[in-house]
Amino acid sequence: MNTLERFLNYVKISTTSNSNSQTAPSTSCQKVLAKYLVNELKSIGVNDVFYDNEHCYVYALLKANVEAMPIGFISHLDTSPDALGENIKPIITNNYDGKDIKLNNDITLQTKVYPDLKNHIGKTLITSDGTTLLGADDKAGITEIMNMLEYFCQTNENHGDIYVCFSPDEEIGNSVKYFDLSKFNTSYAYTVDGSFVGEISYENFNAATAEIIIDGVSSHCGYAKGIMVNSLDLAHEIHSCIPNETPSNTEGYEGFYHLENQNGTVTKTTMSYLIRDFDKDNFEKRKNMIQEIVDRLNQKYNNCIHLKITDSYYNMKEKIKNDMHIVEIAKNSTKNVNVEPVITIARGGTDGAELSYKGILCPNLGTGGHNFHSIYEYIALEDMEKASEILIEIVKSYAKEKGKIKSKNK
Ligand SMILES: [Zn+2]
Repeated sequence: MNTLERFLNYVKISTTSNSNSQTAPSTSCQKVLAKYLVNELKSIGVNDVFYDNEHCYVYALLKANVEAMPIGFISHLDTSPDALGENIKPIITNNYDGKDIKLNNDITLQTKVYPDLKNHIGKTLITSDGTTLLGADDKAGITEIMNMLEYFCQTNENHGDIYVCFSPDEEIGNSVKYFDLSKFNTSYAYTVDGSFVGEISYENFNAATAEIIIDGVSSHCGYAKGIMVNSLDLAHEIHSCIPNETPSNTEGYEGFYHLENQNGTVTKTTMSYLIRDFDKDNFEKRKNMIQEIVDRLNQKYNNCIHLKITDSYYNMKEKIKNDMHIVEIAKNSTKNVNVEPVITIARGGTDGAELSYKGILCPNLGTGGHNFHSIYEYIALEDMEKASEILIEIVKSYAKEKGKIKSKNK
């Protein structure tokens, strides 16, 4: 099947996830795409397919034809709830001329807002009609993985065991929750869920949440001297002690404190901070800083402040740095198809981060998509084809190494 047809087939199926849902998967529409993929996998010749219908995970294995280290690829079924994802009507612009693209009477994809468009002159550009997102995140990743599997089914090229997983609910942070690692028997994998083609990412934030509860003491305002403890005032005092390193004034490798939520009355105030840092030591320092502020104010205010810090996820670089061949192979494979590899950092979490701490080292690769989670999302067909070629090169590289790279990870 050609890449365009394949991609359009997937985006036609609505798979928006829902963070307010109590079920897993969060929306049953994701199962429609999952079942479609199960059939397609079988029809292209991948016979080892397992579908977890309860939790909506598709696992596939293309068995090795040579001795080589197994390798895995992961992408997600759902699209972001941040933009409408139903009734998607893609617009295809052939031989893109580098000018603004009118998506509908009201919405125009403008080059002055999205200058990256200029890098796609001459390509076949795929956008939405401006009423929905496109769904390249992550149906481009699924398309590229399917292209890669089809290539190895149709040729006699050498390959090791290729494991694939299509997971639900990535956009709402739940895609690893029911991931059955016993169905994914590799120590090395890539998520195919990044942006521009050639992007490789293996660093993400260390993350924690600090929950603060302040118990105040109320009193008649006219006679409150020496009695009232206004928990709202204490919340302000805490916040004024925290360095002004916030999401809105940090970038690159800079970490931050983010007051995400604050709710209060005189007698009780709750605060919730996100703590983020790429560096492990700085991450610990940031957590300690909040602990020290609370300890100091507790001495002043009779222990009325309660703090609970919970780690959320860690930087996958801590795991990957000892086993960098997975990044080197991605870089070389990208160069082999005449694309310049670009290492980026993720100022957030990724599936790969969680998996890297569960024993599967898992950098993220670009799919070719831009402006994810938005009605301005776009992708070039040629970039999807290049990204597919990169996946094919990665599998070939691992096959060439045969038994040479030994898994150190598990
Ligand atoms: Zn994604």
